[in-house]
Parts: sequence; structure tokens; C-alpha cells
Amino acid sequence: MRADVELDIGRKTFASGLLPELIAVLRHSRPGDLVALIGDDESVGPELETWCRFTENPLLETTIEDGRRRWIFRYGGIPAPAGDDRPVGSRLWLYTNFDCNLHCDYCCVRSSPNAPRRELGLARIQRIAREAATLGVKEIFVTGGEPFLLEDIAGILLACAAAAPTTVLTNGMLFAGRRTESLRALTRDRIVLQISLDSATPDLHDLHRGPGTWARTRQGIQFARAEGFRVRLAATVSTDTEAEEFRQFLDEERIAAEDRVIRRIALRGSASEGVAVSRADLVPEVTITADGVYWHPVGAEDADLLVTRDIFPLSESFAAVRRAFDREGEHANKLARIFNCA
Ligand code: SF4
Repeated sequence: MRADVELDIGRKTFASGLLPELIAVLRHSRPGDLVALIGDDESVGPELETWCRFTENPLLETTIEDGRRRWIFRYGGIPAPAGDDRPVGSRLWLYTNFDCNLHCDYCCVRSSPNAPRRELGLARIQRIAREAATLGVKEIFVTGGEPFLLEDIAGILLACAAAAPTTVLTNGMLFAGRRTESLRALTRDRIVLQISLDSATPDLHDLHRGPGTWARTRQGIQFARAEGFRVRLAATVSTDTEAEEFRQFLDEERIAAEDRVIRRIALRGSASEGVAVSRADLVPEVTITADGVYWHPVGAEDADLLVTRDIFPLSESFAAVRRAFDREGEHANKLARIFNCA
């Protein structure tokens, strides 16, 4: 991971003057900057992790390069978006597959036409949906990869919709041929399409997603609406200016507030820039892939967000996520007590 500031601390530790150096670095940094410490004493790691948690400058990555430790933390937290107070387990994400017809340069799970499919599969999804219905899941989000590459996507979505209202995330470019039949087979009242459109005009969207993709996605949006589906539009943007431009476009298109999603590029997967997010930044949203259960969909193949490899029974994997969330909370409380001076 690239950092904005690189600080070589040699063999320095918190016991031998590291703290003043950290404070000096932060004085010259802006919120959101990534700071890398390169050092030779591995004992710094646990102390740095404690300091990062206490000061809410999340530790994002620890690597070893040429025998030296490299720790990266971000200066400052990320404001929690509204709605992040929903109970853990009320929202369930399913990654049906990881292959995609596109190869977007910021894809948070590195999907592309060459990515192995790593399919969750209809049988497993049917079982997940059955068990989810008994666990208080209020909404299901189906994503990938591109879910409409799967021949049995209609069966998958109908199984999910039987358990809870379901939203499928798609690039909207595959509604043709037999895939039209997959779309037509879906229930309109329990299934919403969330289609990715990054900008009001082709330039930006095509820059990240490939030439001609904006026009084909617009066609897909029109087709889905004509078929009677509720369509949410979701943009992934780099800057506040891009977000504001897209908001104006949504106003002009008279898109309802509940059908708008605007999010920043996350520095995960294929992205080379974006907002660096750690587990501590994210309220967990149980996310299931063929490889296991993850903390959040934004890093659904990253080891730091893996909670358990065991999907079933679902009650157990949900409990594992809740336990991990409680541990995060306990850790924060313990730190608050340790640093309580009077
Ligand atoms: S961002 Fe979406 S459309 Fe783009 S490669 Fe990733 S999964 Fe496919």
C-alpha cells in the first residue's frame, strides 16, 4: 500500500522516543493521509496497534519488506454514514461469484473476465436463505463479480427473495438473450436492481470501467425500468466534486432519495487509490462468499476481514461475527480504562 508519509524509525520504540515523532508527523499531515512507519524492532507492533486504537488512527496494514517491518496507519477516522446503527446480522451480503464481464480499475474484490468464478452455488444459497429467514435477516444484498453471468441467477434471487427483500448489484450490461429471461422471471415486489453508474456522462464511468460501458449501462437501466423493476443507481466516485455532480444528475433525473447510492472508492482489491478502510472503521455486515464469512462486503476476499471459513450453521457464523464485533468493543473499552488517569 502506498503511503503519503514514510517515516524510518530504525530501532526506536515507544519506550525510546517514538511517540514524539508520531505526534510531529501528525502535526504535518492532513486527515485521511496514510502514514508508513518502517522499523527494525518488531515489538513496536503491539504497542503501535494499541496507540492506533486509542487515538482512532486505524492501523491498516503490517508487512515485512527486506527484513524490516512496515506499518501503515491512517490519520483520523471515517465518519460513519447514517444507518450504520442497524443490528449486526439484519443485513446479509452474498457474493454469488467473482468473475465479471468488466475489469474496473477500482474493483474492491479484483473481479474481471479472468477471475476464477468461486461460485457460492444455488444449493448453498438456498440453505443460507432458509436459515437466514429464522435469524432476523431483514434484507439481502446479492453481489459479485457480475451475478447475471450465472445461468441460475433467477433461482438464486428467488430463493433470497423468499427469505427477505433482496437487492441485486449489477453493472446492468447483460440484459440480452437468455439473460433477459433470467430477469423476467424475477418478482418485482421483492427484488430491486442496484445498477452501477458512476457519472452523468460517459467520460468518468468509461475511464474506470472501459470504453462504451456507460452507454450500455444506460440501456440496461432503461430496459430494467421498462420491465417494471425498481432500479437504484449507485455511483463510485473519487472526490466530493464528482459526488456533487452525480447528485445534480440524480436530481435532474428525479431519482428518489432511497434509490441513490454514492460512495467513495475504497483502497481495496484492484484500487490503487481511494479511502483506506480497516475493520475498525466498518460496522460489520455479514458477508458470505464461497471462501467463508467476512466482516464487510468491501473487503470480501481480504484476510483481515475474514471472520470464519465455516458458513454453516448460519446461526454459528452470525454469532462469530457478533463475537468479533463485541471483542472490538471490549478492546476499545479496555483501552479507555487503561488510559484513565484519575
Ligand atoms: S466493480 Fe463491479 S462491474 Fe466492475 S469489475 Fe468489479 S464486480 Fe465487475
